[in-house]
Amino acid sequence: MKIQVPFFRADLNAQEVEEVVATLRSGWLTSGPRVRSFEQGFAAAVGAPNAIAVNSCTAALHLAVEALGLKPGQAVLVPTMTFAATAEVVRYLGAIPVLVDCEPLTTNMDLNDAVRKLAQLKSEPLPGSLTEDLKVVGIIPVHVGGLMMNIEAVRKFSAAHGLWAIEDAAHAFPAAWRQTSVEPWQRCGEGTAAVTCFSFYANKTITTGEGGMAVTHDADLAERMRLMSLHGLSNDAWERYSGGGSWDYRIMAPGYKYNLTDIAAGIGIHQLARADQMRRRREDIALRYLEELGGVEEVELPANDVNRIHSWHLFPIRLRLERLLINRNEFIEKLKQSDVGCSVHWRPLHLHPYYQETFHWRPEDFPVATALWERLISLPIFPGMRDNELEHVIHTVRGLCAQYAR
Ligand SMILES: *Cc1c(COP(=O)(O)O)cnc(C)c1O
Repeated sequence: MKIQVPFFRADLNAQEVEEVVATLRSGWLTSGPRVRSFEQGFAAAVGAPNAIAVNSCTAALHLAVEALGLKPGQAVLVPTMTFAATAEVVRYLGAIPVLVDCEPLTTNMDLNDAVRKLAQLKSEPLPGSLTEDLKVVGIIPVHVGGLMMNIEAVRKFSAAHGLWAIEDAAHAFPAAWRQTSVEPWQRCGEGTAAVTCFSFYANKTITTGEGGMAVTHDADLAERMRLMSLHGLSNDAWERYSGGGSWDYRIMAPGYKYNLTDIAAGIGIHQLARADQMRRRREDIALRYLEELGGVEEVELPANDVNRIHSWHLFPIRLRLERLLINRNEFIEKLKQSDVGCSVHWRPLHLHPYYQETFHWRPEDFPVATALWERLISLPIFPGMRDNELEHVIHTVRGLCAQYAR
């Protein structure tokens, strides 16, 4: 039998389907009781007092930078190894993303390079920046693939440079971190950063189709993000039309339209309840990959760490190109011919036309990411992956490495 392994397949069960139907039958489609319940459940799951459900992680990031008061002409440290969203929200407010190189093993932001980039800004103004005297006010670390950065190092770095921090945790639910094995676990979202932003996009670790969550320990930030998530209105539709609510409202600020629907939240409530179980399945798959591909000389495998609970959103391997006769793109093409779906996370931001043309970043400004990205392939990893699918991926990767070894 021919096996075709997609890069990702959504894991949705009967309860989730029935909840969507029940929501439709209830007649309340937009933000209402299911959104409230999803917010409360998610806040409890990450150990935060405030969670604001929105229609994407991008929206959550935008609300976070807005609430923190980011202004045109200011700058924010952003890893070059990330998705478009992390940097674009800085541009939404007319501010400038100062890109930072990554660590070679984890692909997470390299704080040593952040120090270098800050020093560099002092001596030469960034081309394309509007002002000579660019003030860096924040940092947006990304937990790439769900392997958390050392958040204590991020906290110290931010404190030393007077920066706020927003975590882009699009990959990192559920995930946790501890300094050493004798210290307690700290969940992603438990309160190191000012705001932590999660994604429930179709292929993220839990999904609502499209959706996101902004989590914070700061009541003022929470209030501002909630206000701005729905046109800046003084009270939302559910408050106006349920029970003893009033039809009247006041526009307090020119806000956005970022609220999550109850249809989506209905899926989220059940995905949340299964989040640990789905994470364990992804972890099993990751451990199998690590074991079965561990001896293959042509590839390097992602970092694991006893001081992390890894969400295993991604399983990125790094090809050792010096040992192979084919490059990364050819390798992906061969995987495709064997019906294995893959992806690459990511072409770094500094190698995209917009960032090159606007800020004149050069590949040599980010030597690690520039070299690393040519070697990256993300293998399929999702909770509904069947054993024969996993076998097929392992067998195919091993086979290609043997066939094309230099
Ligand atoms: C997916 C992703 C986002 C955006 O999430 P959406 O919910 O699609 O807006 C942001 N950052 C990273 C690192 C992502 O992978």
